Amino acid sequence: MPTNNRLPNYINGQWQKSAATEIREVFDPATSELLSETPLSTAAEVDAAAQAASAAFESWRRTPATERIQPLFKLKDLMETHFDELARTIVLENGKTLDEARGEMRRAIENVEVACGIPTMMQGVFSEDIARGIDEFMIRQPVGVVAIIAPFNFPGMIPFWFLPYALATGNTAVVKPSERTPMTMRRAFELLEEAGFPPGVVNLVNGGPDTVNAILDHRTIRAISFVGSTPVAHHVYARAAANGKRVQAQGGAKNPLVVLPDADPEMTTRIVADSVYGNAGQRCLAASLVITVGEAKNTFTPALKEAAAGRVVGHGLQEGVQMGPVISPQSRDRISGLIEMGTKEGASLLLDGRFPDAPELANGSFLKPTILENVHPNSELAGTEIFGPVMGLMHAETFEEALAWVNSGRYGNMACLFTSDGAAARRFRYEVQAGNIGINIGVAAPMAFFPFSGWKDSFFGTLHAQSSHSVEFYTQTKVVVERWLEDWSRQF
Ligand code: NAD
Repeated sequence: MPTNNRLPNYINGQWQKSAATEIREVFDPATSELLSETPLSTAAEVDAAAQAASAAFESWRRTPATERIQPLFKLKDLMETHFDELARTIVLENGKTLDEARGEMRRAIENVEVACGIPTMMQGVFSEDIARGIDEFMIRQPVGVVAIIAPFNFPGMIPFWFLPYALATGNTAVVKPSERTPMTMRRAFELLEEAGFPPGVVNLVNGGPDTVNAILDHRTIRAISFVGSTPVAHHVYARAAANGKRVQAQGGAKNPLVVLPDADPEMTTRIVADSVYGNAGQRCLAASLVITVGEAKNTFTPALKEAAAGRVVGHGLQEGVQMGPVISPQSRDRISGLIEMGTKEGASLLLDGRFPDAPELANGSFLKPTILENVHPNSELAGTEIFGPVMGLMHAETFEEALAWVNSGRYGNMACLFTSDGAAARRFRYEVQAGNIGINIGVAAPMAFFPFSGWKDSFFGTLHAQSSHSVEFYTQTKVVVERWLEDWSRQF
């Protein structure tokens, strides 16, 4: 692979070749074709980006909010113009289907749109006459240089859960995409450059764990927005907090989905299968444990098996394909190992998607939909994030039992219920220990104007991604108490 396939960094308004001596190769997971190389940028490059962002901050924070959002409006237009190109880049480096990639880019754009409302969203509050001649008010000011660290599974969307708000509120930013899927952000940064942000306001540093640690330790960087697996999210949260930074760190998940006997059979089956197998199970809002209650076992077990077995697997750019590969051969082997572990723990393989034999799948990291039935609620498999197209099917006797299983998990990203009983739905919503809830919805992904509300080991921090939470996260409040006595004016 020629070195001109090595991805550049974007620092201080310049595309720069990284000085890194180590790289990571980026492959199309559907074909194993080598696409590019990610430089594992050094601490010095992180420092250069942070210094550039810091220098740009003084002028950017003084730019009126109404002016700061103008490049965001332009960016929205550019993202619409290049919508399919961005989606295709996601498919190439990540493997998901073109429809899934389009959905991802739509949510990215939606976040840009919401952030364009910053002049209203970051308004302060004013109390007149808290005492005679004294007023008090609170204003929001940007925190300074912020960093955004992303995972591989939504290379186009996740940086945009944060970046538009960070910039619109007057911060300057350093973005580090996943080293496994860095190409979409490279293209997005070309659009950010074209949108007209001043040099240094947005910076792109490619890299891996060492690059992340250099970000977490950098004195100038004041806030960290992270999305990835729970162990890394915890590490990021602890290390950045120990360095005095504010942190929001979204982690992994193991999302349960409960099906009551009165759930609509056709709709529920379709939605459950889409939730488990969409994005090849590689999304933090994928259902991975499906819990039928009572009679629902008899209706839904065969229906889910049929829906899973009928899913068309292949290259994400091919018409009609419903599920692409997982991200890498290592990931495929890890998932196969977990399926094996599940059977050793007593689950039965209702559908085995390992070792697909179709010749067109031979070169990629493919698994077909898999169902492990009778997963024990206390088993290791029930508590382990698989991040692949594997459904753990469990059968509870009662709604109570299902609720207890849901709440026994360590994660709390999402929980869903399928029913036509409003009281059951209300109870579920009220009692369940998760932050994103679906009622007759399989992927309860919040729109950009709601916060992405993970709980428990799915999130470390207080303020989540997107919407008003982002505005709070990226601003610090300043409270001013002012005394202006009328008498003083009469002196002139
Ligand atoms: P990951 O944790 O391996 O990597 C995420 C980021 O952390 C990458 O940028 C990577 O370079 C960096 N990183 C990896 N190891 C590190 C280390 N030891 N020290 C410092 N930095 C390190 O995650 P991934 O495999 O890219 O993404 C999948 C995970 O992300 C899944 O667990 C998934 O559930 C989670 N995820 C969560 C959400 C959410 O909203 N909660 C959304 C998407 C993905």
